[in-house]
Amino acid sequence: MILLLGGTAEAREVAVVLQAEGVRFVSSLAGRVAQPRLPVGAVQIGGFGGVTGLRAYLAEQRVDAVIDATHPFAEGMSRNAAAACTADGIPLLRLERPGWSEAPGAEVWHWVDDHDAAAATAARLGERPFLTVGRQALDRFVGPLGAHHTLARVVDAPGVALPTTWTVILSRGPYPIDNERQLFEQHDVDVLVTKDSGGTYTWAKMEVAAERGTPVVIVRRSVFASDVPTVSDPASAAAWAARVS
Ligand code: NAP
Repeated sequence: MILLLGGTAEAREVAVVLQAEGVRFVSSLAGRVAQPRLPVGAVQIGGFGGVTGLRAYLAEQRVDAVIDATHPFAEGMSRNAAAACTADGIPLLRLERPGWSEAPGAEVWHWVDDHDAAAATAARLGERPFLTVGRQALDRFVGPLGAHHTLARVVDAPGVALPTTWTVILSRGPYPIDNERQLFEQHDVDVLVTKDSGGTYTWAKMEVAAERGTPVVIVRRSVFASDVPTVSDPASAAAWAARVS
């Protein structure tokens, strides 16, 4: 049986192929989002309980191999998967979409190492920032952007109190470019803040920022030492799973 650590569009694509090919698998979601987009096939929702809990799950469920197709910024889960699989000699493959560092315009963006640096940079660059960093990171922006007219787009309502100058939009991608143009226009956005998520789902905002000459602050992916074999496309991950299951 394959354990497919998901929460991404790519993981859902892998699930479709595994299902079609009759490979036994279960997808796993953290349960962060109230109404997640569910993959096809069996799904388990909720954390495992750290490395110890994950190892217990792998043994109980007789997992043959694991695909870590979590989001590039879900580092905790990736570390746990690497530790658990190494400890138990279980094959692990990382599926990670390429980042945007090679994308057109990337050289003029303001690359930063973390959300605190992103908040400080955005505060310096604009008065009307557009935050697209996810709900969990919003608290890091509240102090530096407390007096700014900030637009924050998140999937579920934030759990922290936000300044009265902020506007929150609840929605989920993909976002068509016309919507993004309208949003930038309507809120008079003068700086965009994002993570280096990569992929096409959330790319349209970057095109609109380029069109308007809006500065972009982008949080780098952190690089942690890992010798986990990695592929960048769902088809390769599904082919690997079919081989090892
Ligand atoms: P994280 O910080 O790396 O993980 C924190 C803990 O959440 C993990 O230790 C694990 O709990 C649980 N967890 C995370 N992913 C899981 C999964 N796929 N299945 C079961 N448990 C999981 O994770 P995160 O950044 O909060 O991301 C949570 C989920 O949202 C992931 O599935 C990720 O793919 C998706 N997502 C994240 C982002 C992002 O920007 N971070 C964006 C889009 C989607 P235990 O220790 O109890 O096992």
